[in-house]
Amino acid sequence: MIVAFILISMGLMNWSARGISRVEYMFLWKQLDESNVAKAEFDGDVVRGTWKKIPAKPDPQSADLKADFIVDLPVPFDHELKNHMRTHGVQFSGKSPSGYLTGSDLMVLLNLVVFVAFGWVIWQIMRRNSDPMGSGMMSNFIRSPAKRFKATDQQTTFDDVAAMEHAKADLQEIVEFLKTPAKFQRLGAQIPKGVLLMGSPGTGKTLLARATAGEAGVPFFTINGSEFIQMFVGVGASRVRDMFKTAKESAPCILFIDEIDAVGRHRGAGMGGGHDEREQTLNQILSEMDGFTQTESVIVIAATNRPDVLDPALLRPGRFDRHVTVDKPTKTGRVAILKVHVRKVPLDSTVDLERIAANTIGFSGAELKNLVNEAALNAARTSRDSVLPEDFDAAREKILMGPKREEVLNEHEKEMTAYHEAGHALLAWLLSDVDHVHKVTIIPRGRALGLTWLVPDEDRYNVGESRLHSQLAFMLGGRAAEKMVYDEYSAGAENDLKRATAIARKMVTRWGMSPAIGPVAFRDSEEHPFLGKEMHEQREYSDETARVIDSEVHKFLMQADRRAIEVLTEHRDKLDALTKALVDKESLDQDEIAEIIGVPAKRGV
Ligand code: ADP
Ligand code: MG
Ligand code: ZN
Repeated sequence: MIVAFILISMGLMNWSARGISRVEYMFLWKQLDESNVAKAEFDGDVVRGTWKKIPAKPDPQSADLKADFIVDLPVPFDHELKNHMRTHGVQFSGKSPSGYLTGSDLMVLLNLVVFVAFGWVIWQIMRRNSDPMGSGMMSNFIRSPAKRFKATDQQTTFDDVAAMEHAKADLQEIVEFLKTPAKFQRLGAQIPKGVLLMGSPGTGKTLLARATAGEAGVPFFTINGSEFIQMFVGVGASRVRDMFKTAKESAPCILFIDEIDAVGRHRGAGMGGGHDEREQTLNQILSEMDGFTQTESVIVIAATNRPDVLDPALLRPGRFDRHVTVDKPTKTGRVAILKVHVRKVPLDSTVDLERIAANTIGFSGAELKNLVNEAALNAARTSRDSVLPEDFDAAREKILMGPKREEVLNEHEKEMTAYHEAGHALLAWLLSDVDHVHKVTIIPRGRALGLTWLVPDEDRYNVGESRLHSQLAFMLGGRAAEKMVYDEYSAGAENDLKRATAIARKMVTRWGMSPAIGPVAFRDSEEHPFLGKEMHEQREYSDETARVIDSEVHKFLMQADRRAIEVLTEHRDKLDALTKALVDKESLDQDEIAEIIGVPAKRGV
């Protein structure tokens, strides 16, 4: 490719030289005397120009002359020659030697520019191809892409992390050690090498790791687990080696491996060709962690939201033996997190963060941050200069239910959707152990035509059997209402059925809630989230058991369906009233529902 390019550029230069021939100084004088020079241009110690008509060649051996000439001057910018030209009325030009480019200089320069641009393009292409994670070309290939944050430009501290007092307390010890390692070493205390942060996405694991480094005032190196996985086998392992080397050189420091499950998965559980590389990388991490001594003050923090899939070897003492669970925030935690994120947002005085926190059960830190942002955007859209409680409500609905859809349902579809949602809502309203209805709507949002929105009960960490059965009835309630009213099912219940079936199957195969199966837990696809169902042929139970499981799941679902139909038939008047109000108003909140059908005796709203 490059050779071809050089040939092309040589061709270009030849071409530019084609119309010019070099002649003797005296030859030029003679031609001037014959008034055969059209114009000339002085350039340092040469002069170029054009003949009026091409003169005959000075001697028979030389080649034919071209339209243009070039002459070497005895002295630069030859004044005598210039005077001679003036007397013959020849137009000439000449610039000072500096900053002046002749045609052929330009050509060379142009070629150079093209060449460099060409090279750059090739380099870019090679870079893209070689490393999808974007860390650079061949030489950078092996180097770990761990981004380095020095102690000084470290802004995040524990003050930026709201709530999470537990986790912060656990990490405080790490901070102390990094600040004053001698204090611990003197007493022969064992300092953990590795800390594993576990928690669902958005709960602030990355933030917490960064804040730990900031709090201790040490450098912070971060890498994402997926960055180890490269196109070429062996690259991941050498990246690990390089990363640990760099970290040791700048000890004390924190090395943070985010989303370690990408490499730290159970060895041998991978699918396809990729897992060789992953295993090598994981082994390298393990041996590096074993390799450094306690005095080296490098602390490796790793984060994952799938601790269950991690290789047990990673969790052994001396490796990631310190486990810190990062939970979703409780109500007080949510208030604190909201406070952090509204610092820069002008709030109206009517905004009550306590109320917002109460209505955002199950939100993670990241979702709360998003909520504040969406609310601010909503306020900006209506050109207000402070954020109102309505903005928070709109933001919450958008986050939970997706953006509103534009299309308008026709009357029949609208009524059918209303019956479906009213069916769900009524069951949730009447069955004592289903969560409270927060809102029911038939405004199409996200992927759903309508939605019944429940508020989960905050302080419940376990679900009982009867609650699950009620849950199933609630899920099948939409479909049951459709069948009751129109005597046919619609395709709108697909998601309900899928979720209900999944729950019923778990009740049977994992939670031992089926008398026919008994207290047996069966292995299922959950253990290998990346394996398709068809991949794990080696079921641990017989066909006979499989048949019993299927029939138990079926039984649970049929029971739930019957229960839904019973309740809805008994309260048909309420179902109709709710549907009518829904068609009218498109969405109803808790208070409006209570107004229409009253508060059931068994629950206070
Ligand atoms: P994870 O790594 O657990 O997925 P992150 O640390 O990336 O979550 O959190 C995402 C964002 O959510 C953070 O940048 C931060 O702004 C916000 N956030 C999460 N938890 C908290 C918290 N406890 N206090 C303040 N902000 C938080
Ligand atoms: Mg993260
Ligand atoms: Zn439904």
